[in-house]
Amino acid sequence: MFQNVFFKSIFSRLAKASAATVFILSLFGFASQSQAARDNSFASWQHEGWTYAQAETMGTRIAVTLWHEDDAVVQQGIDAVLNEMQRINQHFSPWIESSELAQLNATAAKAPVVLSEEMWLLISKSMWVSQVSQGAFDITFASVGWHYDYRKEQQPSEEDLKRLLPAVNYRGLLLDKQTKSLKYAHPDIRVDLGGIAKGYAVDNSITLLQQLGIKHAMVSAGGDSRVLGDKRGRPWLVGIKNPRAQAEEKNTEPVIYLPLEDTAVSTSGDYERYFIDKSSGKRVHHIINPKTGESASGVISVTVLADKGLDADPLSTTVFVLGVEKGLNLVNGLQGVDCIIIDASGKVHYSTGLTPPEPEK
Ligand code: ADP
Ligand code: MG
Repeated sequence: MFQNVFFKSIFSRLAKASAATVFILSLFGFASQSQAARDNSFASWQHEGWTYAQAETMGTRIAVTLWHEDDAVVQQGIDAVLNEMQRINQHFSPWIESSELAQLNATAAKAPVVLSEEMWLLISKSMWVSQVSQGAFDITFASVGWHYDYRKEQQPSEEDLKRLLPAVNYRGLLLDKQTKSLKYAHPDIRVDLGGIAKGYAVDNSITLLQQLGIKHAMVSAGGDSRVLGDKRGRPWLVGIKNPRAQAEEKNTEPVIYLPLEDTAVSTSGDYERYFIDKSSGKRVHHIINPKTGESASGVISVTVLADKGLDADPLSTTVFVLGVEKGLNLVNGLQGVDCIIIDASGKVHYSTGLTPPEPEK
């Protein structure tokens, strides 16, 4: 399976400059067959009737695996996925000035803004996740979250936190159902959909592939994936990475394999975008506890399974913030949702819907 390394978080500051540059990987030992693709396209190659494609957009790596007997349909599928990912990036990146989200952040504190159907969907879904998690998931985390720069190893000061934490509160997002509009209740509120938009992008991609008559596919955007059908007679095997594998060991075997069909699967980890704070020795990473404005600690990897990426993506971030006990409670109470949590000691916890692997003898 693809290793989702590096370039994780959607809508990172990188996204500003990113014109879908392309990767060629030798994962399957036949990189020579890869097409050196042009900008804005996937690098793709075929193996045993399957087509594999990878590209970079939305500040992350996207990967598609699909099967169809007609090569023209395969190509249409790949193009449809890339176009959709780029469209979503243009729409929801807070770093692209013309995007709906950037416009919203620029004006919603002054007056209510009427949202597009899509923005309404993502924001109301986010509000639902906030409500069921007592605010562990909160798209206003960005009011503080944008003061982190993981590449430059920067984090908000005590004063920044004190000043900006009151703006981190989903209750400050005043939605009007009648007019489908949104007003920010606090001038410092900033919204970022990096915890939900990739799951949505993956869902839309799968729908587009289905519309082309494709029945077997997998689409990933960073840690958010969804599989369509099976892998022609066997399940898809999706791996959970060892969260403490060193970067140079990026091709190490996953620690857990999940055999899946028709499922969305999202992993949130503290190892994708982080630095170690020199004075405290603490890992500073991209999943923020909205109560403190600091990186969530206690668990190091959370994988959530659900029918849709629109659920799996925000819920993996949520369970990461909630930790083992509250996280399992939430997931066990949700129909059709499961999770696998690796805690800080390396212990693996499973929700009640999953059968853990036999212990090694
Ligand atoms: P990734 O984006 O790396 O796949 P996740 O799905 O776990 O990882 O989402 C992490 C992203 O979610 C962060 O980069 C940030 O954009 C956003 N985020 C961080 N903390 C929160 C939070 N408490 N609530 C909502 N979104 C968050
Ligand atoms: Mg997520």
